Amino acid sequence: MEIKLYGVRGSIPTPATNDFDTRMYGGNTTCLEVIADSGDEYILDAGSGIRVLGNELMKKEFGKGQGKAKVLLSHIHWDHIHGWPFFVPAYIPGNEFEIYGGRKSDEKLEEALKEQGICSITQAAFEKQQSKYVFPIRLNQMPSTIEFYDLDEGYTINNGLRVGYTELNHPDGVYSYKLEEKEKTFIYATDTEHDGEIKGEKFGSMDKKLIKWIKGADILYYDGQYAPEEYNPEQYGLKGMPKIGWGHSTYEKGVEIAIEANVKTLVLGHHDPAHDDNYLDNLEKRAQTYMKEKLRELGRVESEIEVILAKEGMSLSL
Ligand SMILES: [Zn+2]
Ligand SMILES: [Zn+2]
Repeated sequence: MEIKLYGVRGSIPTPATNDFDTRMYGGNTTCLEVIADSGDEYILDAGSGIRVLGNELMKKEFGKGQGKAKVLLSHIHWDHIHGWPFFVPAYIPGNEFEIYGGRKSDEKLEEALKEQGICSITQAAFEKQQSKYVFPIRLNQMPSTIEFYDLDEGYTINNGLRVGYTELNHPDGVYSYKLEEKEKTFIYATDTEHDGEIKGEKFGSMDKKLIKWIKGADILYYDGQYAPEEYNPEQYGLKGMPKIGWGHSTYEKGVEIAIEANVKTLVLGHHDPAHDDNYLDNLEKRAQTYMKEKLRELGRVESEIEVILAKEGMSLSL
């Protein structure tokens, strides 16, 4: 499979300015493309990066109204869906999209949605972001075929490549996807927070589940939004707003989890909008140093696990 990164920023698009350069790592919010060896097209999240992906797809069969893609959404926070209304292939009749999202069971909400003819929470979010007064074109005015599916944990979409998923730790819920083909495994685990500790009190029970889920993966795409001192300033004797409970992680936790699970390559993404290219370059060096130190401590080969920061435009092959 071929993985292409079209958006690796978290929270809000972050264009470059004169004194805040983001051109190297990119400013678009999350969107990854996965092309299976069979040619099947998968899109992970619909942040602003999907607009650029859409332009690329238009050069292929999507430009002729003959394209098909499955869109796998980690969750429906804005930065993971706000590119959809600007995704040109969805405006071409004949193209077909299946949009998958996680089900958060809430019977009352489901009943209310059903009364409005809406079958999923994901569909409701997409319709709302294109509703009257907030966007000029309704979802049902996009002339491609768009179908929504809610996932239940453990369900697998079989179509050339195997797709599995599980819920991780994020406010309002988030899904991680596992894409497997020809004994190669890619894990997409953005917007998730590791287990932690506040004033000596431990919280969370996610790390064990995550480590089991990602065991032996070839590539793990993981949320590395914060430097450890931003995540928990107090621990470093610093002032500032802690980010504990906000649903994101750090490169340190990413490294520790990758080592524990024996993944081969760790790709850190969902970069914070406050981090420019210089900051991210430095963060990547820190992550690489931390990885080497940790592996050395364990008596393992320093170069055993590669760690890099995600960059818009990057391609990864498996
Ligand atoms: Zn996000
Ligand atoms: Zn989120």
